[in-house]
Amino acid sequence: MNDDKAARLEEIADQIRNLEESPLYGYREEKGYSPVIGEGNVDAAILLIGEAPGAEEAKTGRPFVGNAGRVLDKLLESIDIERQDVYITNVVKDRPPDNRDPTAWEIELYAPFLLKQIEIIQPDVIVTLGRFAMDFILEQFNLLEKKQKISDLHGKVLEAQTSYGDISIVPLYHPAATFYNRDLEDALQEDFQVLKQFT
Ligand code: URA
Repeated sequence: MNDDKAARLEEIADQIRNLEESPLYGYREEKGYSPVIGEGNVDAAILLIGEAPGAEEAKTGRPFVGNAGRVLDKLLESIDIERQDVYITNVVKDRPPDNRDPTAWEIELYAPFLLKQIEIIQPDVIVTLGRFAMDFILEQFNLLEKKQKISDLHGKVLEAQTSYGDISIVPLYHPAATFYNRDLEDALQEDFQVLKQFT
C-alpha cells in the first residue's frame, strides 16, 4: 500500500464526509447512510467508475455491493481480476433518494473529488459504467467530439491525455442495465474481455 496515496485519498474522504452543502447530505443523515468514497488498490491500473451508490452501498459505505455489484464481481472474475486489484468508485458519492438519476448540480459538486482520485491513483485505464460516468469522463478528457450514445461507444478503447500521461478510456454498459436485458448482458460480458490487455 502506498501510504502517501492513501493519506491523500483519506483527505478527500474527509471532505466528502463533511460535504454539508450537498443536496444529498440531509438524506444521508436522515437515513443513517454513509458516503461511498471508493475502495480498492490505490496503485490500480484499472479504475472503474459507476454512477452513484444504491441503498446497499449507502448502508455499508462500499461501492457496488448490491445486485449490480454481484454482476460486477462475476465480470471481474471472468477476466481473472480480483476486486482488490482494481479501484472502484462513483461519480456521485452519496445516494440520491429513490434511486433517481443524479442532477447536473450534484455531478458538478462531486466532480472535483473524482478528478482528485484520478490524479492520485493515476490509472492506465478508466472504465466508465453507464451513461452518466461515460458522459462525465468524455467531457473531462476533451473527448466531446467522441460523444455518442453508449450503444455506439461501449467496449471501445479511447485514448486521452491526463496531467500524468496518456490513458485509455473504456465505456461499458452499467451492470444494472443487464438485469432485464439479455442482449446488454451478453454485450457487457464480451466488452469486459477488452480489459484483459490492462491486467
Ligand atoms: N450503482 C452504481 O452506479 N454504483 C454503485 O456503487 C452501486 C450501484
